[in-house]
Amino acid sequence: MKIIQSIQEMTEWSRHHSVGLGLVPTMGFLHEAHLALVKKSLKECQSTVVSIFTNPAQFGPKEDLDSYPKDLENDQKKLEALKTDVLFLPPPEEVYPSGYKTYIKVKDISERLCGITRPVFFEGVATVVLKLFNIVRPEFAFFGEKDWQQLEVIRTMVRDLNLDVTIKTVPLIREPDGLAMSSRNSYLSGEERRSALGLYKSLNVAKDLLDQGETSVPVLREKIRDVIAQNPFTNIEYISICDPHTFEECDQIFQKALIALAVKVGKARLIDNVIVERISCKD
Ligand code: AMP
Repeated sequence: MKIIQSIQEMTEWSRHHSVGLGLVPTMGFLHEAHLALVKKSLKECQSTVVSIFTNPAQFGPKEDLDSYPKDLENDQKKLEALKTDVLFLPPPEEVYPSGYKTYIKVKDISERLCGITRPVFFEGVATVVLKLFNIVRPEFAFFGEKDWQQLEVIRTMVRDLNLDVTIKTVPLIREPDGLAMSSRNSYLSGEERRSALGLYKSLNVAKDLLDQGETSVPVLREKIRDVIAQNPFTNIEYISICDPHTFEECDQIFQKALIALAVKVGKARLIDNVIVERISCKD
């Protein structure tokens, strides 16, 4: 595996490998869900670049940029074992040199759900993803449905800016007990981790209620709140039942809806989501 630590070298390498090139952007501390993205790229693309960059632009001033988990040695081993072609480690001072001024804003959808409490988050994500696309010039880029809203922001940016990249996805991947895999799960103590299972449980309870015919969003939302609140150390940021593309809140579930959660468990801010569908028509 080639390790590239400068933007110029990455651009030069890409110039000769752009046909069928897949990019998997990550912030490192790689787990099985990251590796699922890498495996998909390795299978579907001629060559694969995995980037590890803990992007300062997407963290607010009181967030966990400085404590974000890192284990580059282990990440490198995991990627080498899969036979990844390139690990790209851009230095932050090259990505955002002094005097850096340009940020990408995807309106409306960035302002809902996570955008309410993390006002700079999606601007930071869209900016770094566009920069990575320009540096690596991949034909395909791989993202996970765990970050559903992020995926919609990226798809919208690709469409609106006519970017010549095809976005590919993997579904949300869970630990065997149902907890959505996340680098931030490493912040959880044993007790907090047990409480964190309440997120998945609450989504399943809502899905079951919907299957039994309960389509009222206020009722479903309250049920989700109850299930999560039964677990200690939890602090709900939002429970949204909304259109999966516009993120406008629904009153009633008629067809496809996204149930998305953000909950603090101890100091870990966790997100989870599920797409639910009520096939029957409005009557
Ligand atoms: P991150 O390192 O958290 O920025 O994540 C890098 C990529 O991995 C993003 O496209 C995420 O959506 C994806 N990812 C992280 N966790 C999961 C998961 N549990 N299931 C699916 N994709 C994930």
